[in-house]
Amino acid sequence: MSIAQDQSFPEIRDAVRKLCARFPGPYWQALDRDRTYPTAFVEALTQAGFLSVLIPEAYGGSGLGLGAATAILEEVHRSGCNGGACHAQMYTMGTLLKHGSEAQKAAYLPRIATGELRLQAFGVTEPGAGTDTTRISTFARRDGDHYVVNGQKLWISRAEHSDLMVLLVRTTARDDATKASDGMSVLLVDLREAVGNGLTIRPVRTMLNHATTELFFEDLRVPVENLIGVEGQGFRYILDGMNAERILIAAECIGDGKFFVDRASAYALEREVFGRPIGQNQGVQFPIARAHVQIAAADLMVQHAAALFDSGQPCGSEANMGKMLASEASWFAGDTCLQTHGGFGFAEAYDIERKFRETRLYQVAPISTNLILSHVATHVLGLPKSF
Ligand SMILES: Cc1cc2nc3c(=O)[nH]c(=O)nc-3n(C[C@H](O)[C@H](O)[C@H](O)COP(=O)(O)OP(=O)(O)OC[C@H]3O[C@@H](n4cnc5c(N)ncnc54)[C@H](O)[C@@H]3O)c2cc1C
Repeated sequence: MSIAQDQSFPEIRDAVRKLCARFPGPYWQALDRDRTYPTAFVEALTQAGFLSVLIPEAYGGSGLGLGAATAILEEVHRSGCNGGACHAQMYTMGTLLKHGSEAQKAAYLPRIATGELRLQAFGVTEPGAGTDTTRISTFARRDGDHYVVNGQKLWISRAEHSDLMVLLVRTTARDDATKASDGMSVLLVDLREAVGNGLTIRPVRTMLNHATTELFFEDLRVPVENLIGVEGQGFRYILDGMNAERILIAAECIGDGKFFVDRASAYALEREVFGRPIGQNQGVQFPIARAHVQIAAADLMVQHAAALFDSGQPCGSEANMGKMLASEASWFAGDTCLQTHGGFGFAEAYDIERKFRETRLYQVAPISTNLILSHVATHVLGLPKSF
């Protein structure tokens, strides 16, 4: 592989690869079968300091930035592992870092950096709202020095494996707000206190092992001091945090894509049918080459978006475009890898069917492809809004 960004953060990449080698295919296959959380893997990443690279040194992190974080998650995925169980520990704290008070940052960030506190649950999506976040209806009513939260969230990943959750609620009903995007607020919910005291978490089994859940709020009391930023401005804070999320998930797709290309190439060289390696047939080698080209191109866009983010420049469109290109490239690579393996691609022991299911998620979450195309059409190209 000769593309430039493979050279970035070589020591970090090497260390991540070594760590991941301790968690080979059978580890993930067993977890996948039972939909179990990869606790040992997450602990290893935490102890190695890989999940705190975005936290500034002043708060106990390494402050390396998104470029380093993309290298870490790409290598995790290229190694056949999956960062979905913990990637949010890297970036969810961004809402707190950017919009929290000094007291909140001092109270939480150093403990998030050590891994003593897990802030890896991010509660936005609701069954009735879909991608139109302004339609959320989970409501926080002020009652003295508390908010009282009622409502429901869906697809909230890792809530059972998190101590804290960044939660988006309405504090003013949509109809009473000046603009649809006004009147939403962000609360930092202490899940250790909340569960059983107004919050119920129910796991949702999905086609991949992603520890996702639905949440039910019934008069959950959250101290007012846990409001992040200004009441009513929460939608803007959440949007701010989404660029990092999209860029990091795109890096995971790049890692998946490279995993598939590596595996497909190796198998095409080794598997002999009709007395020669299947990779000698152009019908087999061209899709693998195409997958490599697509991954390499997407990788450049992802690195461009990460560089913009790290230099404090606007990167919303680039983050979206990188995520779309990377998720489509990894899906094509996965399909190609499966096809290259013939029947063996479907066997659990090869890890390809598992990675194939895992990488499919990223054309839907955290934002679906159509919504990215709509953003590009209206915000980049100036075409009329359709909704
Ligand atoms: C495994 C998993 C984990 C997740 N984890 C989290 C999490 O931790 N926290 C969280 O808050 N959310 C999470 N999500 C939710 C995820 O972000 C949403 O599923 C995603 O944003 C899509 O929203 P939706 O499912 O409501 O689809 P919908 O908004 O209902 O859309 C359905 C389809 O219609 C298309 N569509 C909708 N409107 C338009 C339009 N105007 N034009 C063209 N096409 C349109 C969409 O592109 C999509 O393909 C997770 C989801 C999954 C599946």
